Amino acid sequence: MKQAFHKSQEHLFALAGNPNCGKTTLFNAITGARQHVGNYPGITVEKKEGFYSLDGRQIRLVDLPGTYSLTAYSLEELVARDFLVHERPEVVINIVDASNLDRNLYLTVQLMELGVPVVVALNMMDVAEGRGLRIHAEELSKRLGVPVVPTVARRGEGKENLLRVAVEMAQSERHWEPLHVSYGPDVDPVLKDMEKIIGEHGFLTDLYPARWTALKYLEEDEQVKAKGRQANATVSEHLEALAAKLTEHLQKTLDSYPEAIIADHRYGFIAALLKDGVVEQRLKGNRMHLSDQIDRVLTNRFFGPIVMVAVLYAVYEFTFTYSELPVQWFEAAFAALGRWAEQAIPEGPLRSLLVSGIIDGVGGVMGFVPLIFFMFLAIAFLEDTGYLARAAYMLDRVFRVFGLHGSSFMAFIISGGIAGGCAVPGVLATRTLRTSRERLATLLTAPFMNCGAKVPVLAMLIAAFFTENRAQMLFLLTLLAWVFALVLAKIIRLTILRGPSSPFLLELPPYRIPTFKGLMIHTWERIFQYIRKAGTVIVAISVLLWALMTYPGLSASEKAAFDVERQAVLETLSEHHKDLLTSEQKTDLPPQVQEAREQLRAIDKREAATALQSSLAGRMGTALEKITRWCGFDWRTNVALVGGFAAKEVIISTLGTAYSLGELDTEENTSLSERLRQDPHWNPLVAFAAMVFIMLYSPCFVTVTCIVKESGSWKWGVFSMVFNTTVAFIVATAVYQAGRLLGLGS
Ligand code: GDP
Ligand code: MG
Repeated sequence: MKQAFHKSQEHLFALAGNPNCGKTTLFNAITGARQHVGNYPGITVEKKEGFYSLDGRQIRLVDLPGTYSLTAYSLEELVARDFLVHERPEVVINIVDASNLDRNLYLTVQLMELGVPVVVALNMMDVAEGRGLRIHAEELSKRLGVPVVPTVARRGEGKENLLRVAVEMAQSERHWEPLHVSYGPDVDPVLKDMEKIIGEHGFLTDLYPARWTALKYLEEDEQVKAKGRQANATVSEHLEALAAKLTEHLQKTLDSYPEAIIADHRYGFIAALLKDGVVEQRLKGNRMHLSDQIDRVLTNRFFGPIVMVAVLYAVYEFTFTYSELPVQWFEAAFAALGRWAEQAIPEGPLRSLLVSGIIDGVGGVMGFVPLIFFMFLAIAFLEDTGYLARAAYMLDRVFRVFGLHGSSFMAFIISGGIAGGCAVPGVLATRTLRTSRERLATLLTAPFMNCGAKVPVLAMLIAAFFTENRAQMLFLLTLLAWVFALVLAKIIRLTILRGPSSPFLLELPPYRIPTFKGLMIHTWERIFQYIRKAGTVIVAISVLLWALMTYPGLSASEKAAFDVERQAVLETLSEHHKDLLTSEQKTDLPPQVQEAREQLRAIDKREAATALQSSLAGRMGTALEKITRWCGFDWRTNVALVGGFAAKEVIISTLGTAYSLGELDTEENTSLSERLRQDPHWNPLVAFAAMVFIMLYSPCFVTVTCIVKESGSWKWGVFSMVFNTTVAFIVATAVYQAGRLLGLGS
């Protein structure tokens, strides 16, 4: 309403800036003699108002008191802020001292966080030039997302242009979103929770953006807190409690306070904003902070990428090498538990459920814990030191092309960007990304990478059909995974997650040495979240998959037929030999007994294969043959792919069962390679189509569960299953059909 009124009558602009940035000088240069000096109502802070007309439009200009910040630590800050919030000037002209940019932009960031329309006057350009600084106003404007106009207030230079830009802004229909600065992995989640509470209760939302109110509670802003208590005491107390909890947590982990962390990140945001291409130092400055000196090496165009590759490789090695032993312990423990259950419980569906459904499921969840522990430890270290922000900064340009963010790289690498990772910690690693579209796109495409469970399956197929070029083939598949992940990310960002890339949202916080205790607390918090959030769902799905592959099982008459076969074998043996057959003795058996044992084992395997074929999963696999014919898969491959949803390495054991080879370990899969090579149905073309399909199709359900938890909606979990499988099918079909056209695959 107010805006419409101003539009037709006169414009109200406010001048804001640090003390001594030239505000008064600019105000006088614009308003000349037409000004009025008084006090703000009730207090003795000077209030100057002046008028100016441009192209017949009347402009009322208010000179706000000079402030460094918008937190109510001083009367000036309070006055400036209240004026902005209550009078709602159409445009805030923010005057910054170009010779002291980083410090001055601190206020600019806060104005933008408050969501008011800002035009930046880049004043004292003459002083900056005198100091050998060249400032690229256009680049700064692009990164900030607001107009930036150079001025020299003392000579009146640039003032017309400034006002014209401001009037244009006042008349535009631009919608002002408050700037969203990220405050790091400790503060951001708390801010998010607070924002949610604030939004739900409409708490002070008529005055301030939700995130801004939340920030003020963290910064202990007494005025906002007082207003809050008046508006809704319960909500205010809740927010204060959250703030107090965060204060305690930061004290414990980083030995710091919310205000300090918030200030660090604002300066970090400004540091990134000004880096590379905004300020050019033509004369060598000698005042450099330690952080800047380190940055000269670590983000150097030449050394930066080299250091980064080394760091990434170290993280990868650390995560996957050091976790190997604990992973084995967990596996051994659960295997022992399974064996114990097999002995303690009589054979039947209950035992099968317990061993194959529940123990395997829980084991699956827990098996990831060491991996996640090491990954998060490495990430917490990089994050707490400040390096992660630098790596993201360097990679941002590349990832931006694909609609992603510099911070996406960690998720891709961990997921298997270097073949052999794991998408579960990879998906969890997207937490370092805090803008929603880029984060979702990363979350959805990281599982295309070749994780450590796909690798043995691919290796088995490569061993069977591409014996000559094993290394090249695996390299090709790694490369393909990157191409698909990035291209599909781009497609997703152009369609369902359409929208501009978040404006400049990178920070370069100062380097810090993390404490051991802080790292441990950060790591433990994340692991605990994983176990609590994913655990129950994963066990439930594991049981479901077990049921799919077990039921309805063989009918009594089918079972009887296998029993008859067994009986026939037994009848060839004498009583003494029968006893030997069931004894524990393994070696030195008479040849008849050995042969009978082999025959019985073969019957068991055929029975298992028949049972698998007639299970629900097997029927699905058979029904799907009509479609999967297009990419060359029969029911055996199909059922193995269904099993692969439990965990990709299950593809090997399921194929083994389907080909009547019995249970197969991922390690000893040579017999399967051999079997597939001899099978008339398989050939290099089918194998390649299968490898591409396995690389791209639905992530395993542990990953899907994590996607659901991280995105906050089961829809994205379903989407990733359907979308990835569809893509996999289309690509595998294209490969297979093209290959056949070229006369391959026979
Ligand atoms: P305020 O505290 O923001 O109101 O700053 P003032 O307007 O009082 O200016 C502080 C000092 O900076 C004064 O001595 C001004 O003459 C000087 N000043 C303001 N703008 C410029 C400019 O663009 N260039 C130069 N060289 N000096 C300026
Ligand atoms: Mg002044």
